[in-house]
This record gives sequence, C-alpha cells and structure tokens, in this order.
Amino acid sequence: MRAVRIQEHGGYEVLRLEDAPVPEPGPGQVRIRVAWSALNHLDKWVRAGVPGHKFPLPLTPGCDFSGVVDACGPGVDVQAGTRVTVAPGFSCGTCRMCAGGRQQLCRHFGIYGETGDGGDADYAVVKLENLIPVPDGFPLDCAAAFPLTYLTAWHMLVERCGVRPGDLVLVHAAGSGVSVAAVQIAKLWGARVMITAGSDEKVQKGLDNGAESGVNYRREDWTAAAKAWTGKKGLDIIVDHVGADTLPKGVWALARGGRIVTCGVTSGGEMTLHIAPVFFKSLSVLGSTMGSLGEQKEVAEHVFSGRLRPVIDSRFPLERVADAHRKLDAREAFGKVLLQVDPGLD
Ligand SMILES: [Zn+2]
Repeated sequence: MRAVRIQEHGGYEVLRLEDAPVPEPGPGQVRIRVAWSALNHLDKWVRAGVPGHKFPLPLTPGCDFSGVVDACGPGVDVQAGTRVTVAPGFSCGTCRMCAGGRQQLCRHFGIYGETGDGGDADYAVVKLENLIPVPDGFPLDCAAAFPLTYLTAWHMLVERCGVRPGDLVLVHAAGSGVSVAAVQIAKLWGARVMITAGSDEKVQKGLDNGAESGVNYRREDWTAAAKAWTGKKGLDIIVDHVGADTLPKGVWALARGGRIVTCGVTSGGEMTLHIAPVFFKSLSVLGSTMGSLGEQKEVAEHVFSGRLRPVIDSRFPLERVADAHRKLDAREAFGKVLLQVDPGLD
C-alpha cells in the first residue's frame, strides 16, 4: 500500500510516499480503508520534530481520518464496508483515569499519527472503541474534518470553562481548526462570540462562521476592541492557543470570574504573566488537551445532526502531502486542509 512514512524529522522533503505492507489488525482492532485524512498542527510537529520529545519513527502521520471498515482482528465483528471516522485518542482502558472517563489523562494516552501510525496511508489499523460510525449521506470528507479539533474545542469550552448561555467569549486566530470549532460550540451553548484574525478576509470568514464581532489584530488592538464589545465589562472566556503574544494581555481583558483556556502556544510558550488580575478578579487560567472518548462521541452526534458544521479549506491528493503541509504552515487556510487518499470512497 501507499503510506507517508516519516523516517527522520525535517522539512517537507521528509514527507515521502512509500510502499509499505498493509497492516494486519490484532485482537480488538479494525483495519480501515482510508478515504480522507485531515491535517492538524500536530502533523507539523511530527514532521519537524519537537526538541526534547521522541516520536516513534518511522511513523505514518495523520490523526483525523475517515473511510470504510476493511477487515477485523480476532474478537471483533464489524461489517466490512461500514463507513466510519476515527477518534484519534487512545488509552489503556483500565487505569483510574480511563475508568473515570478521562482517557486523555491516562499515562498511556496516545494519538494516531503521533504515538502510532495514522491515516496518511491507504490502510490504517485502530482500536474498535475508536470507531465512530458515519450515518448514510454524511460525506466522508466532512467526517475526517472534525474529530481532533472539535473534541479539543469542546473540552476547552464545555468541560474546562463551563460555558453558559450569554457568556461573552473571545476566540483567537479564527481561521485555525480549533477556533472554527470553538466559535460554533460556544454558539451552540448560547454564548456570544468575538474573534480575532490576522487579515480582513479571515475576520469576514470568522463572522460567516457565526461570530458576532471580529477584529483584525494586525490593524487594531484586540483588547480595546474586546473592551468596547463587552461594554467595559470584560470577557467571560478567552480561547487561546497563540500563547506569548496574547495570553498575558488576556488576563487584563477578562471580566470578574473570567476563564482563559489554552491548548497550545503557536507564538511561544514562555511569557510573563501578571498575577494581580488573576487573584483580584478571581480568574481561572486553564490548560486543556484533547478530551474523553465520551466527549468525542457527543461531539460526533452534533456534527452528524448538522448542529456543528466542519469547515473545509482545501483538498489535496495524498501524493501532494507536502503541498498540504505548506498550505497549513503558511497560515493561509481557514478551516481544515484535507488529503484525499481514495477517490473511490465518498
Ligand atoms: Zn488508562
């Protein structure tokens, strides 16, 4: 089969499409014939490497992918041809965290495409519990475009921040996959949403995605815009995955009792945070990574019913995986960048 195999970290040249053996599903596992695979920022780290972190190379990237069931391992009985998408996170299933429904905190938590082979290949093997059946008529490209980002945004807003109707929510970097999801999820829970973005075009797309206010942070001070939008009250929630450039200012822009939640640091992780507004306004500064398998399946129901709508920016054939990575790195995309693995499946 064809598979993108990362043998060593580096630039786009390490994204090589190789001939690889078709993987065999073991006990409790299922083999999927992959239709679509979606890119995430995680793919960039897998390709380029992260100082101090060891990836299990060689590795096939791709943590979000959809397709059809092709074969089952011992003890598994799923009909071949069943249309599915995949929950990217897997865990031991037996520890205290897993038993408590907090799989993402399991010591053995892993992600397909990061800890094990992912979906940038003709076939992928996953655990049975990670299968999410896709209803008839729901397109497989959209089915690949939501699991990781919508889970991440859901866990940030719903579980960590306890979003409530009427909350004033600011979502940074409106074009990123997590942010597109966060705007829709905040709206689903009855919150009001403002977005920041680095171009007028992205601000407009952010408004089209459901935000009621938007600011181009390159032209305007977003903290002043947020102050005006909230009538000087301040924000109830800030969804941040930018980091050093935005988070230290964020604590000043929050209302009393406000929450700022981070799932990543694209502008750098080291920053000086003034702690006075944190205690004076009883703020919460929260971290978040992925979410539980239960949340993943809850999110899927909202997507399949149309209450949440994944946004696809562009589609590339698997052979052009390097161009897809370039597109993501250039921060030109609004929504998901997809790889089409099997044009015969939709
Ligand atoms: Zn566990």
